[in-house]
Parts: sequence; structure tokens; C-alpha cells
Amino acid sequence: MKVFKFGGASLESVERIRQVAQIVQSFPEEKLLIVISAMAKTTNELEKVAESFFLRKREIAAQLLFNIEQQHLNVAEALLGTREHPLFTQLQQFFTEAEWTLGEKPMRTYDYYYDQLVSLGELLSTAIVSAFFNSVGIHNTWLDVRDVFRTDDNFRDANIDWVYTQRQVTEKVVPLFDKANLVITQGFIGSTDQNESVTLGREGSDYSAAVFANMLDAESQTIWKDVEGLKNADPKLFPNTVNIPEISYGEVIEMAYYGAQVIHPKTIKPLQNKQIPLLVKCFLDKNLPGTVIRETSDVKQLPPIIVLKKNQVLLNITSKDYSFITEDKISDIYEIFHGLKVKINLMQNGAINFSCCIDNNPEKIELLIKTLHQQFKIVYNEGLELLTVRYYHNGLLEELSDGHTILLEQRSPATVQRLWKK
Ligand code: ASP
Ligand code: MG
Repeated sequence: MKVFKFGGASLESVERIRQVAQIVQSFPEEKLLIVISAMAKTTNELEKVAESFFLRKREIAAQLLFNIEQQHLNVAEALLGTREHPLFTQLQQFFTEAEWTLGEKPMRTYDYYYDQLVSLGELLSTAIVSAFFNSVGIHNTWLDVRDVFRTDDNFRDANIDWVYTQRQVTEKVVPLFDKANLVITQGFIGSTDQNESVTLGREGSDYSAAVFANMLDAESQTIWKDVEGLKNADPKLFPNTVNIPEISYGEVIEMAYYGAQVIHPKTIKPLQNKQIPLLVKCFLDKNLPGTVIRETSDVKQLPPIIVLKKNQVLLNITSKDYSFITEDKISDIYEIFHGLKVKINLMQNGAINFSCCIDNNPEKIELLIKTLHQQFKIVYNEGLELLTVRYYHNGLLEELSDGHTILLEQRSPATVQRLWKK
């Protein structure tokens, strides 16, 4: 058994969906569980629906939803060659449910409504792909992952109940392979014990696929992307990037942690725990070697790995009365960050101050500063970038830093981080 994941870019157009079909057809004997995310930028568009709804701009929300509906119906019709197909009834049901939500008066949290609306993207894309595959002889079963992935009600970043979900996978998913070699299901979403839809965090489909790979004891997981494989830096930001043919789980988890938008950071653990290799392959040319991520201590051939996180804020937290900022104060500060779910990307402390770098999320920062201000003096600096380089050499570092004012730096033999202003 193998697990495949196809992301939004691979479903961006009718042609690309046909390409995905060809890839799947080239594994005729294989049992495949295929995890799919929403088509193209649908998740972003659904986020706008959720925002408009919550701001009580009901007409705008309805119009945005209507546009999404038309796009999906058009793609479905182009693939199936008709609108006379049970798929269209299924799609209609999904849209009707979303319209009901839009008809409600928002009484619960934004995150709750976000999940009820945004989860639609994956339901639509998987239903379309599954019906299209069956229509061209790629027999498959469509699975509503909300019947399998049980989570808590931490909406927008829900946590999987591993025990319950494992049981569902064994009892409900495994038998589906007796009917057809292929099961198609949604990434990114799940359900609470109250049958409320949840999402697992943006770009979470990689993680969904890894949960399945773990629970099905898959032989491998493949993430099909529109790029060659994992690169040592984002080619949109840096020239002369190189492909990495093989890399360890540990290295990828570090890259993701530092902000490389390669693979969802939660993806590695479920795979590592069962020693399941993760392959990153290009759906535009499946003969390209791609990248293999697995347990290997061989980092000798790795090129310098460069990650740039933009839109950073430096917070300087100083005690008001010159008292030291030591363990007890640091623990108070951490509690505040933890409570507001703000992740610290880099930190440093001195006698009476604590500096840290965080993503610029205006709503959270406002609340954070307000809370910290009760105990501390706060100064902050926006519009910064955080560079991380693993396996650096000084020549490269100076070249990358040229023309920037460095505000904070941290170095270990393997990693350097620099926070700078352009
Ligand atoms: N569709 C979701 C998103 O765009 C999940 C994913 O793509 O992995 O965030
Ligand atoms: Mg996506």
C-alpha cells in the first residue's frame, strides 16, 4: 500500500487533473490511498467567504460562494462531458449545506464557522476527481474523511484523536480496498465527536496523508508537486537553487520549523515513527528523480540550506523597574505567548530584557502587547526578515546579508539565524 498526496496546484486545471489520472494509471497493480487538497486557490477563496459571513456581509459571502460553485461545476462538466451525472447531486448537497451555514446568525466563534465553510474545498475536489476517475475506468472509492479522522474541537488547528482514528482506519478504510485498489479522500479536514467539521491547519493535507500512511503501515508516501523536488532554497527568492536527492527526516523537520514552505511541519513525525519514506515527486514529469526523505545520517553532501521568513516583528520586552528577567519572568512571558498561540521564531535574553522575533499577525500582536504591557515595557520593530542558513559558510552569509542591517543574530556550528531590516 502506498499513500499519494496531490495538492491544489495539481488540480489547477482540467488538463492537470487529466495528468494526475495518468500518474495514477501508471501504478495499475498498486493499492493506493490518495489524499487530495482543494483545487487551485479554493481554500483562499473560501476563507474570504468565511470572513464576509462573520462580518455579516451576507451578500458578498453568497456571491463569493456562488463563484466557487460555478468554477467547480464547470471543471466537473469539462471532465465528465455532461451535467447528467450523480456527481452533480453530490456537489449540490455540499453547496446547500454551505448555504445553510451562511443563513445562520453567527453565534459561535469565527474559527468554528471558518472550518464549517473552508472544509468544503476538499469535499468538492475529491468528489470531482473520484467521479472523473471512475468515468475513465480508474475504479476507486470516495471516502468522507470526516467519518474517519476524529479530532478535538480546536477549530482551525484541530488535534487528531489517534486511538479512535486508528480504529476507524482499521475498521472502515482497510476493507474498502477489497472493492477497489484505490481510495480517494480529503486532506486537511476531519470531524469532532459532535460531527462538526474541522480543519487541521493551512497546508495540512501533507499531514493528513502522513497520518494515513502511519495508520495503514504504508510502504511509502509520495507528495506530488509542480516542482522537481525539495530544493535548498525557495527558487522564487534565491537564484541558483539545487535539487536535494536525499535528506533525513530530521533535516526536513528543521527546514519546515525555520519556515521553509516545503512540507507541512507536522508531516514528518507520523512517518518517522514508522520509518516510512516520504517521496517528493513532480507530477509534470514523473521521471524526474525528486527527493527521498528518510532516516539517514548522511548530511555530508547537503548544500547550504537557506530559508527566508518575511514579515517579521522584533519585540523588545524590558522590565519596568529594572528587575532581572530570569526564569520566573521568562516563564510568565512564555505563558502569555502560549496562551495567545504566538510562536517565537528567535529569542535572546539579557539582564532586564527579553527580545524575540515573531510573525506579523496584527490582531494577535495587538493583544500580545496589551497583555505584556501590564508587566513590561515593550518596543517593537516591524517589516523585518529572518534568514536561516544551515551548513553555512561565511562567504555565503556575507553575500546574502549584503546591504541589510542586522538586528539580532544567533549562530551554532550548523545553523545561523539573522534578523534584519532591508
Ligand atoms: N487546501 C488546504 C490549504 O490550501 C490544505 C492543503 O492544501 O494542504 O491550506
Ligand atoms: Mg494547498
